[in-house]
Amino acid sequence: MDASTPPLPSALSQMGRFRRRLEGRKAIVFLDYDGTLTPIMPRPELAQVSMEMTELVGELAKRCSAAIVSGRSVETVKEFLGLQKVIYAGSHGLVIDGPPGTGLRLDVGREFKEGLEALYRKLSTALSDIPGVLVQLTGYTVPVHYRRAHPSRIPEVDAIVEEVLQDHPEIRRNQGKMVYEIRPDVDWDKGKALLWIRERLGLSAENSVAFYLGDDTTDEDAFAILDDGDVGILVASQSRETAARYTLKDPSEVGMFLEGLLDIIDGSAGEDQI
Ligand SMILES: [Mg+2]
Repeated sequence: MDASTPPLPSALSQMGRFRRRLEGRKAIVFLDYDGTLTPIMPRPELAQVSMEMTELVGELAKRCSAAIVSGRSVETVKEFLGLQKVIYAGSHGLVIDGPPGTGLRLDVGREFKEGLEALYRKLSTALSDIPGVLVQLTGYTVPVHYRRAHPSRIPEVDAIVEEVLQDHPEIRRNQGKMVYEIRPDVDWDKGKALLWIRERLGLSAENSVAFYLGDDTTDEDAFAILDDGDVGILVASQSRETAARYTLKDPSEVGMFLEGLLDIIDGSAGEDQI
């Protein structure tokens, strides 16, 4: 971001604005998982959401539509969060699974399953000699985590991934935070998943306000498709180029924001602000 660009306002300072915006409209809340509900952990399997955060998301899901949008598989996020009423969008939105009875179910990646499994096996073997690299198969994504690899080995990781991917034109990679997100090359992302869910719920930019909270580059697709009246919130401690219009520093501020949103929905917040 340009040094002269003013920093984004904190979402916590805008609760009055959000309350006014929600008058006569329903809230629909989209939450990324890693880095948004939990701090980024050196080992992804440790990124367990806190009890407090789980409760907040659960309370939110009782009052409005709430979706978790993650690069992880639906199964993993479900297991971590354990909430029934939440909509889960895994593998960057390629798989969507709503609460029982809602009929919210989408599987965009099915035809790529075999190719991804083959790719996962090839990458696991090819990268096994580089300490600190973790290859996973999570739903329709093969994340290659290199956060714990020695920085001098990262070009090697990059070259190996590039070489293996040459045999798989149907698969592409995106750059995440110290992770390559390898996934089907389809025109589908977290933003498209957001629109699909919203439409399926009978909600629109007129009758609802979508809140999207995320920290990663893959969340930019969602920030970018939001309507003017919606609320994109980048979770980041430092400013960076983003399509989001508000910011929160870290998961603990996300918790504070969700508490504020609950108060707004319950009608107990900001009564003094006109
Ligand atoms: Mg994230």
